[in-house]
Amino acid sequence: MGQKAVDIAKLDVDKLIQMLNEALAEEWLAYYQYWIGARMLEGPMRSEIEPELLLHATEELGHAELVADRIIQLGGTPLLNPDQWTKFARCDYEEPTDPYVEEILKQNLNGERCAIERYQEIADYTDGKDHATYQMAITILNDELEHEHDIEDFLADLERLKEDIKKLRL
Ligand code: FE
Ligand code: FE
Ligand code: MG
Repeated sequence: MGQKAVDIAKLDVDKLIQMLNEALAEEWLAYYQYWIGARMLEGPMRSEIEPELLLHATEELGHAELVADRIIQLGGTPLLNPDQWTKFARCDYEEPTDPYVEEILKQNLNGERCAIERYQEIADYTDGKDHATYQMAITILNDELEHEHDIEDFLADLERLKEDIKKLRL
């Protein structure tokens, strides 16, 4: 545990560790949401969307590593039991019971929007007070913004595909 890391943080470190543990839980759930969703996926553009979802899954796991390491630096304990994930997470885990590509993408989109709020909040809380956590939050936030945009693009393409098919039927 880094004593100096704790000393220089000009904020409530316990509160920050709590927020980071919530973010950690959300990252693991986002990882699984993407990972299982990519495997269940059915429908148009599957071969393009599946690898992108798996890439996002890997990136969520990278976020979990950054967050867990920062919790330890701050003298906290990252969640030690997966039982805690759904209790700590503010973002819902949505079971991909309908494997249709649009449904899977919408579940991931909800997750991304929730993650964006989370890192915006952590950035706001640490801005000017804990530069290391702030920088980490911004790095992750930029990934989440990119994820959101990727999914919005896929959904827009699917929408366009549906419209084109409707035109063909007329
Ligand atoms: Fe993430
Ligand atoms: Fe993401
Ligand atoms: Mg991407």
